[in-house]
Amino acid sequence: MMQTASLEDEKKEILRRYRRLLKMAKPVLKDGDSLLIKKAFNMSVEAHKGMRRKTGEPYIYHPLAVAQIAIEEIGLGTTSIIAALLHDVVEDTEVELDEIRKVFGLKVAKIIDGLTKISGTFEHGSSQQAENFRKMLLTLSDDVRVILVKLADRLHNMRTLESMPRDKQLKIASESMYLYAPLAHRLGLYSIKTEMEDLYLKYTDVDTYRMIVENLRSSRDARNKFIKDFTAPIQAELRRQGFSFEIKGRPKSIYSIYSKMKKQQIPFEEVYDLFAIRVIIDVEHEMEKASCWQAYSIVTDFYKPNPDRLRDWVSTPKSNGYESLHTTVMSKTGQWVEVQIRTRRMDDIAEKGYAAHWKYKEANQQNRSGLDVWISKVRDMLAQSDSSAIEFVDDFRSNLFNEEVYVFTPKGELRILPNGSTALDFAFEIHSEIGNHCIGAKVNHKLVPLSYILNNGDQVEILTSKKQKPNEDWLKFVVSSKAKSKIKDFIKENRRQAALEGKEILYKKAELLGLELNDEVLNELRVYFTSKTHNELYYKFGKNIIDPKELKRFKIEKEQKHKSQNQKISDAKTFEKVLKEVKGEGSDMLLIGEDMDKIDYTLAKCCNPIAGDDVFGFVTVNEGIKIHRTSCPNALELMSNYGYRIVKAKWTSQKELEFLCGLKVTGTDRVGIINDISRIISAELRVNIRSIAIESENGFFEGTIMLYVIDTAHLDTLMNKLKEIEGVHHVIRFT
Ligand code: MN
Repeated sequence: MMQTASLEDEKKEILRRYRRLLKMAKPVLKDGDSLLIKKAFNMSVEAHKGMRRKTGEPYIYHPLAVAQIAIEEIGLGTTSIIAALLHDVVEDTEVELDEIRKVFGLKVAKIIDGLTKISGTFEHGSSQQAENFRKMLLTLSDDVRVILVKLADRLHNMRTLESMPRDKQLKIASESMYLYAPLAHRLGLYSIKTEMEDLYLKYTDVDTYRMIVENLRSSRDARNKFIKDFTAPIQAELRRQGFSFEIKGRPKSIYSIYSKMKKQQIPFEEVYDLFAIRVIIDVEHEMEKASCWQAYSIVTDFYKPNPDRLRDWVSTPKSNGYESLHTTVMSKTGQWVEVQIRTRRMDDIAEKGYAAHWKYKEANQQNRSGLDVWISKVRDMLAQSDSSAIEFVDDFRSNLFNEEVYVFTPKGELRILPNGSTALDFAFEIHSEIGNHCIGAKVNHKLVPLSYILNNGDQVEILTSKKQKPNEDWLKFVVSSKAKSKIKDFIKENRRQAALEGKEILYKKAELLGLELNDEVLNELRVYFTSKTHNELYYKFGKNIIDPKELKRFKIEKEQKHKSQNQKISDAKTFEKVLKEVKGEGSDMLLIGEDMDKIDYTLAKCCNPIAGDDVFGFVTVNEGIKIHRTSCPNALELMSNYGYRIVKAKWTSQKELEFLCGLKVTGTDRVGIINDISRIISAELRVNIRSIAIESENGFFEGTIMLYVIDTAHLDTLMNKLKEIEGVHHVIRFT
């Protein structure tokens, strides 16, 4: 009974929340919209039926809350509300994207598809996650609503972080701080950005967070009194001049206070700008600028402004769409106070960002705003960039965070670049061809180098030369992703071109020299000219880093080596000479196993020597040096007739080589004898049997075994073990 009762309560609560959502959406709904929202709500309720959040609440609370944020805090419309209600449905339930497309159309389906694709968490430095991030930005250029609903989703998750396990809390909080807060900032969603930052602090440094909250609370009354006194004369004068307005004292965010304390190493009490005064004017669009400056004039009539702290984002809005006039003035009590002056429209955009911005834009048909420019820049970046995903994220983030510098073309056109941009960045901003050929610039009519860092208000004229080309050094002093990616593109293309040319040069020269460039020779060349890849080898030829003449030297050295290996050795004397050449004075003996690559030798087939055997080398006429056992049947003849061709040789233990060797085993036949023999052999470490054949006749057997051994000691051990087998009479090595 209890259970039913609480389920009933839950149902009521779900409906209550749904109605609150509808009520909030009402002003923007068009015909049929509420029916669609109802459908989406029902589909979501049905799909998430029985699912619960970590808090224990019904899951549907989450999509409802996300939709509520979308409408209330971001100012989105019906499509986004539907997408928000269904945002987790495809990923977490049975509902397919197709079904959503059928019921709600392509637009909603696309947004949900985008949201599903970026559902993974982002972790800096992992390429998979960087790829996810890139996907997310792709959707940004497609339909910004994907990101906006994602931000709403993320904000609600941050607000309900309490019930998550600690590791998840940290992960979600840092990810929001790393990516979502800057994105919110970039899209002009200040309150969402601020709330995310505050929540980040709450979950990563709760003591500091609580301390600041507590201090803000205990100082509130004093602050309010100060604000009241400070604003009183301004209010009176604004009223007298007929303004319709609102003045607020806005506390700074907990996180920004925290940052200030940390940055300036000061206690809470010493943070002077705990709040800003905001003057919001209700005024016609045409009068906006004039009214803001009029208000500025009133404020500064009462309080002296700090000339270094005037920010005019009314004449030139920030590229995220932010418009406002900021000044910092001295209060009667000797305290600096920041005053923000803006119109209702500007305030709306500052609070709600992108969606509000669009609402006004449609009404006013303005030119492309900073935000549009930014989004189209993101689109360009995505299209251009073939850098690795991680590199891309770093680039993008630095562009996201950087404050901007405002500069002008010679014709007085405004260009906004990331802070720290140089003349070269500016050149690429104008056009990639201008960037590619940039040799310098004139800033305010003065000649400056490419690496000159731009200041606000600079007027920049780029000087070009047809002969100029980008080079790797340029990457050291550009900061905009556009310039970076264009320079990288050029370098890459240049390398490719040089490699093509180099390949041609190499092949032509080789042909002239009669050098056949088969795979083997190409590899030798690569090693000879210390290149990692064939392309690098070609590139070095193309760029003349390797003088084609050096190819001749390569050929000569190669032939010499060949000669020294094969032809020069005709007897013991020349052998010794060669040996000294390749190994230095003092060596007079061929080391079998060690000198393989320097001296051409093989093991004689007639006696199959193995390591440990007594051996000698014999210089043949055509086949290099052959190694024979001193006990070889041919040894006597060779040594007595061709003494001048005998060279000293011995085994080295440096390399473990395997030698093929034959054993003859004879004895009395019995059941299981083959099994015993092969068991002994294979139990012996490092012995591989190549073949084993056993014949038996009249109670006797004779086995022929071919196997690989390391050396004679190894062979002896094996032979002794075989001799111990019951029934085995003889074990001999044969050749
Ligand atoms: Mn969600």
